[in-house]
Amino acid sequence: MKKNRINFEQALELYDMDFFELGDLADERRQELHGKKTYFNINRHINPTNVCADICLFCAYSANRKNPNQYTMSHEEILKIVDDIDKRDAKEVHIVSAHNPNVTLDWYLGIFKKIKTQYPHLHIKALTAAEVDFLSRHHGLTYDEVLDLMVENGVDSMPGGGAEIFDEAVRDKICKGKVTADQWLEIHRKWHERGKKSNVTMLFGHVESRENRIDHMMRIRELQDITGGFNCFIPLVYQTENNYLKIEKPVTANEVLKTMAVSRLVLDNVPHLKAYWVTSTVNLALVAQEFGANDLDGTIEKESINSAAGAKSANGVQLEEFTALIKNSGFTPVERDSVYNEIKVW
Ligand code: SF4
Repeated sequence: MKKNRINFEQALELYDMDFFELGDLADERRQELHGKKTYFNINRHINPTNVCADICLFCAYSANRKNPNQYTMSHEEILKIVDDIDKRDAKEVHIVSAHNPNVTLDWYLGIFKKIKTQYPHLHIKALTAAEVDFLSRHHGLTYDEVLDLMVENGVDSMPGGGAEIFDEAVRDKICKGKVTADQWLEIHRKWHERGKKSNVTMLFGHVESRENRIDHMMRIRELQDITGGFNCFIPLVYQTENNYLKIEKPVTANEVLKTMAVSRLVLDNVPHLKAYWVTSTVNLALVAQEFGANDLDGTIEKESINSAAGAKSANGVQLEEFTALIKNSGFTPVERDSVYNEIKVW
């Protein structure tokens, strides 16, 4: 364990610091780790189905709820998208879905295998721990069995979704019945034990308290001390539209930036902090670079999950525009691959 690390109470007190002093502290840490570099990658999110057996109150994406338009893509449709993005130099395909009881594990493994066989140079980031848990229960397999099959069929890394907030009481309120906090962490631990990397998210700005956020970060830090397998922490700003949580006051930009800064300081063993502009807006993500964030995800050609919940900027930005925005905000855009090898300084 690292010496002199921030404890729970100290982390909470960071929120009460002067806003700009907190930003400076996080920025200092960011610069020690990454200088002025801001990483991004050229990726495409594919969300193959929105039919879901679970009921998360914050979710606007799943069908059979507020979203009346069910869909399930075919392998052919997915391969067509992959072929298209491959021609445009994408490096990663990011595949995350709802928990559709009619879409089998074999269906997923089949599409991973096809992508890997036809496009071996593309990195496949796929299946959140929530999906792994769902598929393992649905098929009567252990987590180890599902994870081994993912590796065998070409999955390179796991995304960080489904973590939400680890606090059990909050989970009961917002996503009862889905993967538990302990199960989520166990699946990532097992994935890391296979020598693989993953990310970790935190959905905030709904019913959770600052204490819940710090607790979430502490549980990540504890696992990271053991495995070192998390590349990146991704705080996701809760989107207020088309869901059942009915949060009257959306989280403020000030609180979003403070949360970024606090996470940069608390997660001293996670190398990267992402400002996921799909949920925070591009403008706030650019400011977040001065509050500890060193990654702006990517150009993300299309994304369905957060746009269903009201995210206004979820349909992609052009590469030139994206890199110009980073440069104009005083940072250096660095294209990376999915595991943070540098590809090109723009
Ligand atoms: S967050 Fe995921 S698991 Fe929960 S209802 Fe939405 S699609 Fe289903």
